[in-house]
Amino acid sequence: MLAYNLQTVQKKIHMALQKRSEKKITGRDVTLVAVTKNHPPEVIGETLALGIRDIGENRVQEAKHKKEVLPAGGCWHLIGHLQSNKVRAAVALFDIIESVDSLHLLAEIDREAERIGKVQEILLQLNIADEKQKFGFSRNEYSEALTKLDDYRHLRIRGLMVIAPQCDDIEETRPVFAEGYRSYCDLKAAGQGIDILSMGMSGDYTVAIEEGANAVRVGTALFGERDYNLKF
Ligand SMILES: *Cc1c(COP(=O)(O)O)cnc(C)c1O
Repeated sequence: MLAYNLQTVQKKIHMALQKRSEKKITGRDVTLVAVTKNHPPEVIGETLALGIRDIGENRVQEAKHKKEVLPAGGCWHLIGHLQSNKVRAAVALFDIIESVDSLHLLAEIDREAERIGKVQEILLQLNIADEKQKFGFSRNEYSEALTKLDDYRHLRIRGLMVIAPQCDDIEETRPVFAEGYRSYCDLKAAGQGIDILSMGMSGDYTVAIEEGANAVRVGTALFGERDYNLKF
């Protein structure tokens, strides 16, 4: 089932890439981040065996458990909100933290990375639609964060992460993704090593790619419904 779903998702990614070639959006590659949260560790084993390297988890504790029982491998992305008291574990566990959403967190991750002698790759999460209930930098905070990045010697910023609002009509997400892409282009023009724009989940990844995403975070479309009774 996973192999079949993966093929379907990859086909759709390919089609979305063809569609966007009409726009002036460069880049032909899309990284598929397989979101395995609330699925058992074996699912990650199967995913890696199918050649998908990028694994997305949203909880530190859950990822820790899974990494303990799995052989080493894969590139692990933290995609959920990170609490201060979990920074230490997150920096130890994750190759890239996509969900950096506050000035405070930037400083804490930098400090912890320095402590263990790591350069932590991160994305900045933008709250483009300015949704009150969502995490992410607002416009103003984001500008402030950009002025501070040079101070953090143990962070390597690779780009931006965007979550679109849940909409009945997927087309409503398009302007949000388009703005994510504009912000990404600005950041890329201003800095070095910016190469990831992570936008789109199962319900909207095709639109995200049409609008410029080069990484998508897909769970349900690959693995089916999550099991919220699983305890880690
Ligand atoms: C759970 C999650 C996803 C994947 O969601 P699906 O709809 O199952 O594809 C993507 N991004 C984030 C930040 C998530 O928390």
